[in-house]
Amino acid sequence: MTYIKSKKIKIAIIGGGISGLSAAYFLSKKYDISLYESKNYLGGHAITLKKTLLDHNNKPKVFYFDIGFLVYNEKNYPNFKKLLKELNVKTEKSSMSFSVSTKELNYEYGSTGMLSITNNLKNIFYKKFWVMIFDIVKFYKLSKKFLNNKKIKDLTLEIYLKKNNFSQIFINTHIIPMCGAIWSTSFKEVLNMPTRYILKFLDNHGLLNIYKRPQWLTISNGSIHYVNSIEKKIEGNIFKNEKVINVERKNKKILVHSKSFSKKYDKIIFAIHSDDILNLLQKATDDEREVFSKYKYEENNITIHQDQSLMPNNKNVWSSWNVLNESKKFDNKNKITVTYWINKLQNLYTKEPILVTLNPPYRNLIDKKKIISKFILRHPLLERKHLVLLNKVKNLQGKNMTYYTGAWMGYGFHEDGLKASIDLVNLINLEKND
Ligand SMILES: Cc1cc2nc3c(=O)[nH]c(=O)nc-3n(C[C@H](O)[C@H](O)[C@H](O)COP(=O)(O)OP(=O)(O)OC[C@H]3O[C@@H](n4cnc5c(N)ncnc54)[C@H](O)[C@@H]3O)c2cc1C
Repeated sequence: MTYIKSKKIKIAIIGGGISGLSAAYFLSKKYDISLYESKNYLGGHAITLKKTLLDHNNKPKVFYFDIGFLVYNEKNYPNFKKLLKELNVKTEKSSMSFSVSTKELNYEYGSTGMLSITNNLKNIFYKKFWVMIFDIVKFYKLSKKFLNNKKIKDLTLEIYLKKNNFSQIFINTHIIPMCGAIWSTSFKEVLNMPTRYILKFLDNHGLLNIYKRPQWLTISNGSIHYVNSIEKKIEGNIFKNEKVINVERKNKKILVHSKSFSKKYDKIIFAIHSDDILNLLQKATDDEREVFSKYKYEENNITIHQDQSLMPNNKNVWSSWNVLNESKKFDNKNKITVTYWINKLQNLYTKEPILVTLNPPYRNLIDKKKIISKFILRHPLLERKHLVLLNKVKNLQGKNMTYYTGAWMGYGFHEDGLKASIDLVNLINLEKND
């Protein structure tokens, strides 16, 4: 794209995911913005693949499907809902359900069917299954009490579960896999997460009730459609395939050095992962170092394929999200293995299922001929120190002409990135910009 010259305040934004895209979209109405993205496409974790596959009538057809950002709901994503309406993007109902298979225990259940029972009748005779159901109901009740009593000090999920004597079958085959799947994180990290934070999220999303769960939605023909729409509406410079290498702050100006050129700006916005900021920021202050050195991310290996071997054995149990454990015990250190059944999530009718597996246990297990693609995506680890760090980030906003946004400023989801950018835009608009 050609560079547009202007006398307006010049703002550089690094990162073309929902956070950077939305910041660019709102700010470009008033300022001279430049958006830098290291990849040759925008969207960050909103990635859509286009592939010709056999449809349910055995005929070749082009399908669009997502492998990162997949679903949202209108209750918990009010800003995203508004943005999609403004962009005139079509959406459709998605279906959310969850299954767990523990191969060596020969135990699997899915969340659909009456109280998860009717999808695998074998479980009726399995005592541990009933212990799990009992503990699910107990968890809902206790968690609501915990949330309503602000005086109870926050603690890690591991301690909360121990203190309340939850059974191992509930811990290993329900709550840890569920949270691990939601936050794409390992079992060990789930146990380290702050309980209040988890429960607030589960409660907001209706996951502490058996009924009254929100209707999940997905973008028709993939999230690429909203990414393309927002890109068209950004009135500024978009530099794709232009990785920022270094950010210098000198004489009240910002100098951005990227892969192929350097440019001067008045302000800089980091819309990248929080643990990457110090790698780019030259001469970071002590406060910046203190905050951004503490963030941690976890890598997820993502394989997109059509091999059913990582799905539950019993087809009635197949759900939108399917957690698989190969061993008898959930190994704390293991990364979560979860397979998204894309057909169910995005209403696609193909001959062979479209599956997206995070962290396949033995990658060789997936039939090579059935692999469509592979990616690595990083997800923030939400630890107890997270809330303290966020307050510190708020104090850093605007200091040294430097600003921050990202899904990491909330629960790590699309609405969080968008909300962080809206707050940032409001802050910049309130500043005396002369
Ligand atoms: C497997 C998976 C599934 C998910 N599913 C959902 C879902 O269904 N719903 C939901 O709400 N959330 C989901 N999420 C969470 C998702 O991560 C967030 O919703 C959101 O997309 C993160 O947006 P972001 O803009 O903050 O960061 P990102 O999307 O990570 O964007 C950051 C961008 O910065 C770019 N960048 C980094 N460094 C540089 C540099 N030096 N120079 C230039 N550019 C740079 C990167 O290439 C990237 O494009 C999922 C996450 C994962 C991993």
